[in-house]
Amino acid sequence: MGIATVNPATGETVKIFEPTPVDEIEVKLALAETTFKQYRKISLEQRSQWLKAAADILERDQRKLGETMTLEMGKPIKSAIAEAKKCALVCRYYADNAAEFLKDVEAETDASRSFIRYQPLGVILAVMPWNFPLWQVFRFAAPALMAGNVGILKHASNVPQCALAIEAILAEAGFPAGCFQTLLIGASQVESIINDPRVKAATLTGSEPAGASLASAAGKQIKKVVLELGGSDPFIVLESADIEAAATTAVTARMLNNGQSCIAAKRFILAESIADEFQALLVEKFKALKVGDPMEEDTDIGPLANASMLLELNQQVQETVTKGGTILLGGQVVSDRPGYFYQPTILTDIPVDSPGYYDEFFGPVALLFRVKDIDEAIELANDTIFGLGSSAWTNDPAQQDRLIEEIEAGCVFINGMVKSDPRLPFGGIKRSGYGRELSIEGMQEFLNVKTVWIK
Ligand code: NAP
Repeated sequence: MGIATVNPATGETVKIFEPTPVDEIEVKLALAETTFKQYRKISLEQRSQWLKAAADILERDQRKLGETMTLEMGKPIKSAIAEAKKCALVCRYYADNAAEFLKDVEAETDASRSFIRYQPLGVILAVMPWNFPLWQVFRFAAPALMAGNVGILKHASNVPQCALAIEAILAEAGFPAGCFQTLLIGASQVESIINDPRVKAATLTGSEPAGASLASAAGKQIKKVVLELGGSDPFIVLESADIEAAATTAVTARMLNNGQSCIAAKRFILAESIADEFQALLVEKFKALKVGDPMEEDTDIGPLANASMLLELNQQVQETVTKGGTILLGGQVVSDRPGYFYQPTILTDIPVDSPGYYDEFFGPVALLFRVKDIDEAIELANDTIFGLGSSAWTNDPAQQDRLIEEIEAGCVFINGMVKSDPRLPFGGIKRSGYGRELSIEGMQEFLNVKTVWIK
């Protein structure tokens, strides 16, 4: 399809975009480099004012931006508007805290004075996914711009209007032309951009193959990369948990963004003693969800983002069932309407050799597992190639300590669902990627940590 807006709720192609021509890419890279040389000297106060102006625009235009997201990738409009507002939050967070994060850090050594100074690297390439089309970009752009870097965005090919809207917001906020530019290019052109000597580093949020491809290209050029990739997060419920609260949260944790979130709870690991109760509640709550037009305020679940996501999810479900899995609810493509809708689905009895055990399921499908005790729960939680988020429910402090200590993931949320927050670092281990976004750690990824020694 190339670069285009295709409404996933109808399958209709709304608008096709011309890719950025090669000579225009050259102009934009040259502008990024010259802008960086000036922009890095702009005061933090001025950068902060511009970022706060971007936050104001995001809040002012929240409905329009929400509608653009919903049109292009199908998330329910309520969540889309909330996403625009969360982008304003991350802009304000870095506008308020960058001065503290970037200040020199003194060190006692044999020098008369020695300290660490944080400096920007230059032009940073951001390769971004469609699932949180504004949030993923702003959580990179806000710290990068506050630190004095400039950005080049290659957004997912199905969200070109979101990509252009982001560029327009930052320009309207006052950032000089060249601080943040969008290239409408396909994945195959990413390598030539990372190879360009003017580009100093890159960040990619997306799938493992995309991350591996970018990291290989960047590795050959000795350029730093941050990777935020997939996940198959465990959601562990043990006997002392508040089962009703866990089941209610489980629905949001699995179904947010039509089930297409890297940090969605994907594997529900249940202590045998509470499994029947939790399972019954989850089936009842999934049945109550409204699947429908994502532009309607009361819709809980919209379509998947494109036809291939739908096909892949359905294949994963069918193969899991063929290998011995049991469908407790759903398990089919929604056939009585156009668009890329999948039924809210719950699978159990998942065999070890099936996709349900090892793959990431990117859609409204919950995978239920039963375990004897906390030892088995931790073993199963860690039996995955991924290590992004994890959520565990227990009111026993000793069990909480063990879960925090032993789960292999970038975060552990106890008695709550995994969520991103500008004040907390975000990222994964294992094949979920490396590096961190958000908080001070997210800002430090694209800084030169310069040691200064004076006698
Ligand atoms: P994707 O295919 O990897 O796409 C993400 C971005 O990478 C798009 O801009 C895409 O461009 C580009 N891309 C694809 N192949 C590439 C390649 N070989 N080299 C360079 N760039 C390439 O990901 P997706 O399937 O759309 O998104 C879902 C995945 O992202 C899931 O695995 C999800 O868990 C993960 N994700 C992770 C996080 C996180 O924070 N850890 C957040 C959101 C999503 P085109 O669109 O032009 O192909």
